[in-house]
Amino acid sequence: MKHTMIVMMGGQGAGKGSVANIMKTEHEYKHIESGALFRALPADSEIAQIMARGELVPDSELFKLMESEIDPNADIILDGFPRTLPQAQWLVEKYADQFDIHVLYLDLSEELMLFRINKRIREGGGRSDDADHAAVRRRLDTFWKVTVPAIEWLKTAPGIKFSDIDASQDLDGNMAQIHAVL
Ligand code: ADP
Repeated sequence: MKHTMIVMMGGQGAGKGSVANIMKTEHEYKHIESGALFRALPADSEIAQIMARGELVPDSELFKLMESEIDPNADIILDGFPRTLPQAQWLVEKYADQFDIHVLYLDLSEELMLFRINKRIREGGGRSDDADHAAVRRRLDTFWKVTVPAIEWLKTAPGIKFSDIDASQDLDGNMAQIHAVL
């Protein structure tokens, strides 16, 4: 039997990490969070500087990271990858034979994304790249311009299960929708 690969897609503040953390309490998943893995790198590294500007890390770096993290013998949640069309195509080409891939798109308006990022800052749990307004603007623009086409492509990619989740609800509401499609 193939293992499961849950792919969390959604903009900043859509709740990918929160949903992934709850799903891990319900089933044994290996949670692979590209942003967190990159944040563990030294602050003077080139990747840390790219992140601080709110830009995307080059695809080649993501492919290296994913190859070392994706374990074909585990159920997996991907959080933060893919977020470009080449990344999405690479993932499907390389892993659709080994995993049942299910994309959960946490769909949220930009207005609510900004509201949640600001709340994250106010409540003190914010990250340094959340506090820089220009960097946040750049990440949101990249989401609409670069990641949404990848989401659109995944929607119709053969053999891939895709579910649209209305992420404007609270966490319980989001989880109820996810339980209904899993
Ligand atoms: P957010 O989704 O709020 O932007 P993440 O923690 O997922 O936060 O990512 C933080 C940063 O890490 C991104 O702004 C980007 O620089 C880098 N990064 C993470 N995942 C990817 C990816 N799949 N492709 C390119 N860059 C990435």
